[in-house]
Amino acid sequence: MKRNIFKIGFLIVCFAGFQMAYAVDGIETIDSTKSYQNFHVYQPVQIDEKKLKQEDEVKNIILFIGDGMGIAHVFAAMTANQGKLNLEYLKYIGFSKTQSSDKYITDSAAAATAIASGVKTYNGAIGVNSDTVKVPTLLELAEAKGLSTGLIATSSITHATPAAFVAHQKSRDMYESIARDFLDTDVDVVIGGGWSHFADRMDGQSLIPILQKRGYTTITDETQLTMSNGHKLFALLNEGHLPVASERKNLLSCATQAALNRLDQNEKGFFLMIEGSQIDWGGHKNDTGRVVEEMLDLDRAIGTALEFAVNKGQTLIICTSDHETGGMALESGNIATGQIEADYTTTSHTGLMVPVFSIGPGADIFIGIYENTALFDKMKALLKL
Ligand code: MG
Ligand code: ZN
Repeated sequence: MKRNIFKIGFLIVCFAGFQMAYAVDGIETIDSTKSYQNFHVYQPVQIDEKKLKQEDEVKNIILFIGDGMGIAHVFAAMTANQGKLNLEYLKYIGFSKTQSSDKYITDSAAAATAIASGVKTYNGAIGVNSDTVKVPTLLELAEAKGLSTGLIATSSITHATPAAFVAHQKSRDMYESIARDFLDTDVDVVIGGGWSHFADRMDGQSLIPILQKRGYTTITDETQLTMSNGHKLFALLNEGHLPVASERKNLLSCATQAALNRLDQNEKGFFLMIEGSQIDWGGHKNDTGRVVEEMLDLDRAIGTALEFAVNKGQTLIICTSDHETGGMALESGNIATGQIEADYTTTSHTGLMVPVFSIGPGADIFIGIYENTALFDKMKALLKL
């Protein structure tokens, strides 16, 4: 019922927008949430691609997850950035099938559990299988083998996607239990939102002093990302989710750089997951500008990772998605001016396969069409976990 009211509300808003569109001197104006022009075009990083060698041993994996990112989201961003993205350096391309154990249309929790632990589970599950039994995550296996690990998200760090790499809870909305699960891992670098789930809890206990006792530098201000030099970092940069891309400035790239500086200190290598969390929310809102700005923000962080990989070698970079959001389609665009107009078939997720882009040692095994669980199997094999 609630959902129907929402849909009716949505229709009224759309209809009002449609009426207004024709109200200005009888000239058609474009519904601003569906069309977008990018006035902040950037050049992809200039790197020597030959240094992203296939034949190297895999020491490090940097996994980017664009939540809700389908092909339309990628090409909308590419069009808006006048035809070019850092993502294009990731030229080994495959597709991941996203269905969960109980639904054709997955949610982010089941999809992230599939990627992080290699099991299909029910929508809402965080790091547990269909019988709510804990399943080990890639991050935990990497920690057990002595690798360093990191998690970065532009949402609260307790939100489904990052949560599934460290937590084990039967429901994604158990944020405070998920926060407590961070204490059971030795993840080295955490950067995102969600301060309140750690420090301002229903049980009255702040987890911050415990984190500090475990050797973490805890910070709440992004300017401290580069100032604090300790190996272990827990950065909770907002009470809840981080602000939208246009208000975050270059935070995701800076966070990526700060994490790489720390994780690279381990000779055994590292696993780092970086989520562009809010692409999905742009899709849910059918807001093209939001989708594009969040996509370009993720792409700039990919540029930072590419520069690291070229300098250091032995680093596999993957960029994939958990599911498509919005049933987004591109109706019109102009690559020369960075204008794009999209339409949407839903305000929810869809069942489409999602792309998997990769580059570096091991990238060739990500070519093809496979279940999202295979992403775990492939990364586990490459890191010899
Ligand atoms: Mg997410
Ligand atoms: Zn979503």
